[in-house]
Amino acid sequence: MKTATLNKGKETKYKNQYPLIDEEDIYNHDHLKEGDLFYLVTEQGTYIATCYVGRQHKGLGWVLSYDQQQNIDIAFFEKLFTLAKEDRTYFYNLEGTNAFRLFNSEGDGVGGLTIDNYNGHLLIQWYSKGIYKFKYLILQAIQNVFQYTSIFEKMRFKDTDFEGGFVTGEAPEFPIVIEENFAFYNVNLNDGLMTGIFLDQKEVRKKLRDQFASNNKVLNLFSYTGAFSVISAPIAEQTTSVDLANRSRSLTEENFGLNSIDPKSQYIYVMDTFDFYSYAERHQLLYDTIVIDPPSFARNKKKTFSVMKDYDKLIDGALNILAPQGTLLLCTNNSAYSLKSFKNTVKKTLEDADVDYDIVEVMGLPKDFKTHPHYKPSKYLKAIFVQVK
Ligand code: SAH
Repeated sequence: MKTATLNKGKETKYKNQYPLIDEEDIYNHDHLKEGDLFYLVTEQGTYIATCYVGRQHKGLGWVLSYDQQQNIDIAFFEKLFTLAKEDRTYFYNLEGTNAFRLFNSEGDGVGGLTIDNYNGHLLIQWYSKGIYKFKYLILQAIQNVFQYTSIFEKMRFKDTDFEGGFVTGEAPEFPIVIEENFAFYNVNLNDGLMTGIFLDQKEVRKKLRDQFASNNKVLNLFSYTGAFSVISAPIAEQTTSVDLANRSRSLTEENFGLNSIDPKSQYIYVMDTFDFYSYAERHQLLYDTIVIDPPSFARNKKKTFSVMKDYDKLIDGALNILAPQGTLLLCTNNSAYSLKSFKNTVKKTLEDADVDYDIVEVMGLPKDFKTHPHYKPSKYLKAIFVQVK
């Protein structure tokens, strides 16, 4: 077995079960190749953990086990998958929901690997070349533990020409329809990086419907396939979805259709968010609830946008078209943007704008997106409901 020696002073971090091996903490890693298993050892050579090499951002790889006798084989993955499955009994039994995450990387014991269930069609996402080298062990273990109709995969790392696709089982015709909290959404597991729905937002969507959509004019910015609009539409006065991508219009209309909502009864704009702000101001449009769920980075013809730098501009723009006593739902999935600094930006922007407000709800990931207690970035999702007074 290869070994990687920690630099002096770095033992405590890893003995305390930090799961990601930081390249800078290792004395020499030139001998470590993607997919290698290795023992992480102290300067004195004492064993700490068994890890694999899978480079992601600054990480060299992930801890798999703290037991030196543990073989990394099919049985190892089967055990983790079985635990993950038991952990999700709630979601298996949940009425009105048939899509959820089965295995959430480091939260469930293998960083760099996620498995989602879309009504029996499973999606494996590989986040490094290294974890992909374990494909056949992992696939065997998945097939032995989880029930499925088909399995698809996506490569979430850069150094590959292969995007992913069908792996095994009975391939469905896409889109398939999944149900979540009694609403229906189209999903395609075989078309680019996104599937049509972000499963990590399911509780935020439910909260929006249960508390902030009824009889309201709901504006959904960065709307993609319109999931926040679809969940609101049956009870809202009207919904408006805004997304820059052309494809968003038909995808959103189709999702409305699946839920027996006439797409023509809702507004859909293919437009840049900031252009929409100007448009809405010009036409004196006002909204009771404004959902802002942007990508971490975006670029259009004119400018680049980064959530960490520009969230204040998104809030300012929304305030100009928010009805009295309106609600903002502010989200970010950027793991580098901590809840603390995100909250600070929200508060500062509202205070600078002289707005009287309450933060009524702060939400994170649902339980199926299990996080790691010693690894903060795994809690990447932040959703803040702000009630303006
Ligand atoms: N809120 C969505 C997910 C957003 S994904 C949901 O709940 O499912 C990010 C979306 O932002 C993409 O669909 C992308 O087309 C859109 N987007 C990126 N830059 C944009 C911009 N400047 N204005 C409007 N939409 C933008």
